[in-house]
Amino acid sequence: MSERTIPLIDQRSSDLATPAAALQAHSRLGARGLLADTLGRPLRDLRISVTDRCNFRCSYCMPKEIFDKDYTYLPHAELLSFEEITRIARVFVAHGVQKIRLTGGEPLLRKNLERLIEQLAQLRTPEGLPLDLTLTTNGSLLARKARALKDAGLQRVTVSLDGLDDAVFRKMNDVDFPVADVLAGIQAAQDVGLGPVKVNMVVKNGTNTHEILPMAHHFKGTGVVLRLIEYMDVGATNGWRMDEVLPSAEVVKRIHAELPLVQLDPSVAGETAERWGYANAAGQHDQAAGEIGVISSVTQAFCADCNRARLSTEGKLFMCLFASRGYDLRALIRGNPIDDDLTSAVAHIWQGRTDRYSELRSTLPADTSGGARRVEMSYIGG
Ligand code: SAM
Ligand code: SF4
Ligand code: SF4
Repeated sequence: MSERTIPLIDQRSSDLATPAAALQAHSRLGARGLLADTLGRPLRDLRISVTDRCNFRCSYCMPKEIFDKDYTYLPHAELLSFEEITRIARVFVAHGVQKIRLTGGEPLLRKNLERLIEQLAQLRTPEGLPLDLTLTTNGSLLARKARALKDAGLQRVTVSLDGLDDAVFRKMNDVDFPVADVLAGIQAAQDVGLGPVKVNMVVKNGTNTHEILPMAHHFKGTGVVLRLIEYMDVGATNGWRMDEVLPSAEVVKRIHAELPLVQLDPSVAGETAERWGYANAAGQHDQAAGEIGVISSVTQAFCADCNRARLSTEGKLFMCLFASRGYDLRALIRGNPIDDDLTSAVAHIWQGRTDRYSELRSTLPADTSGGARRVEMSYIGG
């Protein structure tokens, strides 16, 4: 049987935990109460998925044989409206979130996304500071939308790009999309000031490993930060195998052999990427040449610093990329103009958080879900 022929059971709306029990047991917190989970991790980063649809079919994320013409996406009425997203985001910001990343699916497919960005850009932290507002995109629509995104208040973008060779890239996105259009999107983002632009490259051993060095050469000295990501066992449809993971240590070794690198300090606490700068002849970081990042989600778990919550397109809150159940926040706000329940629920859910999947991965049995399937990356967002 092929690795990918896993029957798909739709877990998006079934058997999802609600915060009702949490609310009952909970003594209410002020919206400004500083939160820490059971492992002492603060809540700082909220990733919001604005659509479960995508125009690509990257095999590691939305394999064609599952996400085909018969696949049922969420109906429009199920999606959070921009006002609902902003309302939820405001509560998270009051609880300590400083950074919001819009994702998907492909976020630029969501109609009028600039309107949402305008609303989110108005939010302020309890200290009165604006948020770090970013977006992850496959870049296919970026050339035409970069200016409007910037004008709406977006600060930066991360663009996913798995190789420079057109044939390799067309195969990886599996919709025959040309690499030149994504490169044009990256250029447009730089031109309008949506930088520093980061480029995410998922490294799949045996598929695009030979693209690592061309990508490093291409982006060195351009101001773009290339980030090489270990292929993850997220979701339940990509047929992930450990032998398709190229450890980040090996990625760094290969680049260093041709373009010498020096390790850099993390720029912020909880940063997922390990930073490496291009070295000058004296072995010092050459600022003009820039840096790369490696994200070792599989071989070097960073759960201890994980300060991220994820909100799905329909308003389910997930505490971990590898979770199978989310908390229905939409149920707490639709038809309820008061934010108290939402505020208490978010506090209680975060304070009860125990998730650290990547740290436990190697010690866990193959299926830890108790029968529930892990959510897909395209649904929860990366
Ligand atoms: N469609 C947008 C994009 O591709 O940038 C945003 C959503 S996508 C789910 C977010 C990020 O997750 C992308 O950078 C993508 O490469 C990454 N991703 C998806 N599946 C992955 C996997 N199995 N392992 C590692 N990264 C993955
Ligand atoms: Fe779409 Fe992004 Fe997933 Fe690729 S990684 S299929 S572009 S959501
Ligand atoms: Fe965070 Fe879960 Fe990833 Fe660990 S496995 S870093 S807890 S999202």
